[in-house]
Amino acid sequence: MGRHNKYDLLEKLVSAVNDSGWNVAYLEDIKQHPFYLQVYRDNESCRVKIYIWHLTHGGGKARPKDEYRIQITGVDKFEPLQGGKTLILGYWKEADVFAGFDVRKHLGKLGASPSMQIREDALRKAYVNGFEPCDKGNKEVAIAFRPDFFVDYLQSLEPLHDFGQSTKDISVLSEVAQNPEINIANIQIQNVARKTTVVSVSKKLRDASFRKRVLTAYSFHCAVCGVQLKLVEAAHIIPVNHDNGTDETRNGLALCALHHKAYDQALITIAENYSVQISRSRVSELQSQRMSDGLAKFSQDLRPIIILPPAISDRPHAEYIRIANSARGWK
Ligand SMILES: [Zn+2]
Repeated sequence: MGRHNKYDLLEKLVSAVNDSGWNVAYLEDIKQHPFYLQVYRDNESCRVKIYIWHLTHGGGKARPKDEYRIQITGVDKFEPLQGGKTLILGYWKEADVFAGFDVRKHLGKLGASPSMQIREDALRKAYVNGFEPCDKGNKEVAIAFRPDFFVDYLQSLEPLHDFGQSTKDISVLSEVAQNPEINIANIQIQNVARKTTVVSVSKKLRDASFRKRVLTAYSFHCAVCGVQLKLVEAAHIIPVNHDNGTDETRNGLALCALHHKAYDQALITIAENYSVQISRSRVSELQSQRMSDGLAKFSQDLRPIIILPPAISDRPHAEYIRIANSARGWK
């Protein structure tokens, strides 16, 4: 395989992985397509082989107008990666949406002018909701998804494509994508593996939506130091598993990785008047442990008051700040 012209797609893949809170290492020369990447975070890691093309609108006399497709070029046959995952992806640039196809359904030698299709309506729904399955018939399902759902798609790859085995279950998956707040008890799926996948997808969609809303509300700045640099995460004010925990934007705070950790360890907090505070008791504890080097610099970098989202309804809720500070043992 010779040189390719896919650097824009590779860039998009890497930023999708980063937007999902994960990192990328290149396993092979990036001048070669397909791409071999290692996608990792903390102790979790996955080797991935990625075939990717731009999605283009249907056209052609024999093709319906309401579909997009990838035209497979430069590949004679798909070869799955041993000990890793293999993706066949399309990318719709105008809407910033991916389509994932099931490599297990495309293992034979490819015919002349091979292509894969996905309905336009599935891509549009994914643009709005983050994710949408597309029933292609013949027990195959394609998955349309937004970049911030990329790692979630990768992690649930086979279970998601296994929905192709039941047209009825695909429609349940689609309902949940449109309403991830659905009560788990109301999910009408008999197959245990597929039911587990639906529950996990609904949670991941809620997480992705929280992350997107919070980061957007703060324009991707850390609320307490102002840094952007794509180092910012969505933190919960009231911790996730607390009885009063909620995924509302006003229970979120955009924080860089350093200040996220400092917030969770109650070294810093925000007060109800939005001032940024350092815990005196935590500082003296650290001083007695001879663990307080860098404190002066750390304190200097903190803003006196947090950056506030423009919309009042997105700003940290006073009651949530109170509950959170008490839950973290703030003194
Ligand atoms: Zn920060």
